[in-house]
Amino acid sequence: MKECYQLKKASGRGEGVFAVRAIDAGETVMVGEIEKELEENHSHASQIGEDRYVFHAGLISKVNHSCDPNCGIKVNESGAHDFVAMRDISNDEEITFDYAMRNYGIDYFPKECGCGSEICRGTITGWKDLSQKTKNNYEGFVAGYLLDLDKLVYSK
Ligand SMILES: [Zn+2]
Repeated sequence: MKECYQLKKASGRGEGVFAVRAIDAGETVMVGEIEKELEENHSHASQIGEDRYVFHAGLISKVNHSCDPNCGIKVNESGAHDFVAMRDISNDEEITFDYAMRNYGIDYFPKECGCGSEICRGTITGWKDLSQKTKNNYEGFVAGYLLDLDKLVYSK
């Protein structure tokens, strides 16, 4: 299968991953593959469990954050994160997801968000800092362990 994305310079944000054709809502845009398990969190790590951090292979680590993302996360059989289109994406549109979909807390990113969306939260936050409304909007598109952590926190 030909990949439907490529790495390009993003205006003002370094590099980003862009669609090279129109993508339909529900399509798997990028298939996740774990490159390496890590001992602890790292600025380019993905959190895949309460205490599990990994590097994803390929361009997944290059996908930029947006507070109004067009992709979300589905955990695949290997435990890695697939990126799935939450809405239709046009050719040449930047592929984005919300870092809060995979990280409970954000330790390593600059606090200010430059995503430029109309609903920008102003800062890049983790799952624990999202409003319930945003969590509801992301239902079905976040790493499952985040929901497990929520339950633990609320049951305390
Ligand atoms: Zn933002």
